[in-house]
Amino acid sequence: MRLASFATWPSTAMLSSLALARSGFTYIGQGESTVCKECQLVVDTWKRGDRPEVVHRQRSPNCAFVQQHLQDSDSISSISRPAAAAATAEIGAVASASSSSAMGTVDRSTDFARLQDEAVRLSTFHDWPERAARIVEPRDLAKAGMFYTGQSDRVQCAFCRGYLHNWQYGKAPADEHRKEFPDCSFINRLKDDDFPAAAAASSHRRPHHQHANGSTLSSDISRYELQQLLQVGHIAANLFRNMLVYCLIKHFLSLFVVNLFSFLEYVLYI
Ligand SMILES: [Zn+2]
Ligand SMILES: [Zn+2]
Repeated sequence: MRLASFATWPSTAMLSSLALARSGFTYIGQGESTVCKECQLVVDTWKRGDRPEVVHRQRSPNCAFVQQHLQDSDSISSISRPAAAAATAEIGAVASASSSSAMGTVDRSTDFARLQDEAVRLSTFHDWPERAARIVEPRDLAKAGMFYTGQSDRVQCAFCRGYLHNWQYGKAPADEHRKEFPDCSFINRLKDDDFPAAAAASSHRRPHHQHANGSTLSSDISRYELQQLLQVGHIAANLFRNMLVYCLIKHFLSLFVVNLFSFLEYVLYI
């Protein structure tokens, strides 16, 4: 399933995973590399404003996917709607075609057990409206426990069954989910690592499951250790400074006392 392959699509990427999936691309899982399984065209970098359907058609005009779904070549402005609709239908077709696999089609109103799988939730966004995709990414919604109901921009939690809709730019699905349905078992299990703000506040109390790859984990540990080292260094520097101040005061005091004595001596002996 193409859209489901974008589960780990970097959030820094300029293009939405939905637009790429609809243009026939599957995420390889590294960087921003995407591939068309039909013609094997690999695109490694995407810039803001790139039109994946145009890129696909220009670089690989003979691709079967391009021929079937992205063939509206003459008027650029009319491409996106029909092409997207065709591609959406294709994604739907792929979804039903793969029903022999573990994924299969999912009934969005009853299959709550299977919708507890993030990849299954992501696959429900095949008809997520383009307009909504510019505001919030299916991947972030699926990650936050939500699947698409098929109506407007209304999503539902596979766990607490709560609905969320009317998405606004900049609202994080996980935050909204937690705010509206604080008793949801799923969102409470999600906690720190999926809430950037909370994670920043407690940088060394993170569950491991997000750090499936060792490198992130080890860099986290070394950052933590560095912090500790810096803290130790800071304490040592403070101690040293205090000692210096103490020595100086003692030195001047003793000088003063010695001078006082010699002065008294001088006064007394005269
Ligand atoms: Zn292709
Ligand atoms: Zn929920």
